[in-house]
Amino acid sequence: MELSSYQRNGVWRQPTHAEIIEFLKDYTERKGRVDIAVLAPHPDDAEIAMGATINTLVQQGKKVAIVDLTNGEPTPQGTVETRLGESKEAGEALGIEVRITMDMPNRYLEDTIENRTKVAEVLRLLKPEIIFAPYWTDAHPDHRTGAALVEAARFYAKLSKTQMAGDRFFPPRIFHFSSNHYRMHMEPAFIFDCTRGMEAKKAALRAYQSQFNSNGRDIEEVLDSIVGYNHYFGRLIRRPFGEPFFSREALGITNFESIV
Ligand SMILES: [Zn+2]
Repeated sequence: MELSSYQRNGVWRQPTHAEIIEFLKDYTERKGRVDIAVLAPHPDDAEIAMGATINTLVQQGKKVAIVDLTNGEPTPQGTVETRLGESKEAGEALGIEVRITMDMPNRYLEDTIENRTKVAEVLRLLKPEIIFAPYWTDAHPDHRTGAALVEAARFYAKLSKTQMAGDRFFPPRIFHFSSNHYRMHMEPAFIFDCTRGMEAKKAALRAYQSQFNSNGRDIEEVLDSIVGYNHYFGRLIRRPFGEPFFSREALGITNFESIV
């Protein structure tokens, strides 16, 4: 796995947006585009919501990128250095190709022209067929904004006659994942049979000690709750585990073979 963040004198550094673009130009020149990009407000959202799906897709040969819109700091027990190290470990557990940690501010993420442009540049360079964003209704403003920001950036990515890095590109599909702070039930558009990826998901979640093993939280209790959620959605499709996904757009199919 390659990372946009880097270590200097043994300490993880948050890259600037210019450094991220340089990194991505070099990365895509060497490795080409990715199949799937998961754009999450904070390191751990992608893992909580769809870690097992990500690992299942990797096992199916797909190239997956995680793009953390913020580095997730500050939090009560975390530091920027800790979170970058944890997100590296989690990404390795999932088997993804590349992880980008963007420089937008945690807690104060905004759907601005500048931020849309930043995310659009990442999409124009990675050229994913499918992108995943947070669910659009959430108690956490960063998650709500994350959904709006990614949807706008997807549109901006196809603009011509701009100064944006990369080539114009419109990711054909966008789906939304659930790492929701509301006590609410969301009706999924589809449920992914992620059974094969559950062990990798648990390993990835265990990397986030600063988030799940602090403030009176016990990481194994957090894991039990997440695994129970995935077991429930698995039951709905008669599989051991499932992760739910949501879509504003209609889904078309050409055969019934992949429906379980
Ligand atoms: Zn989050």
